[in-house]
Amino acid sequence: MSYSTKHTHSEKLYSNVFSLSITKNLFQKVTTLEQSLTNLIETENREKLANICPICIDPFETNNYIIPLCGHKMCIPCFANNLIKNNQTGNRCSLCREIIIPGI
Ligand SMILES: [Zn+2]
Ligand SMILES: [Zn+2]
Repeated sequence: MSYSTKHTHSEKLYSNVFSLSITKNLFQKVTTLEQSLTNLIETENREKLANICPICIDPFETNNYIIPLCGHKMCIPCFANNLIKNNQTGNRCSLCREIIIPGI
């Protein structure tokens, strides 16, 4: 009787520990999955953002953009527009105001 109770008790304990470790394992798997999904979405967003003009939000095409020294890629129509409209700031990046083409 006393043996059987003890046995049942330790079996129950074992099963609790076992299911706890499964839960922990599952939780870690979900966390890992969630992390890689977040990374994937972030990479995708970064790639999407790198492929659109920050000013007109149009996607870049081959050879219709310039990359100033500051690294803020923008399309040539936007750059030209800015250059024509703004005498003072036309040659500056619309995002960070760095000079785009030195000497003009
Ligand atoms: Zn643009
Ligand atoms: Zn810039």
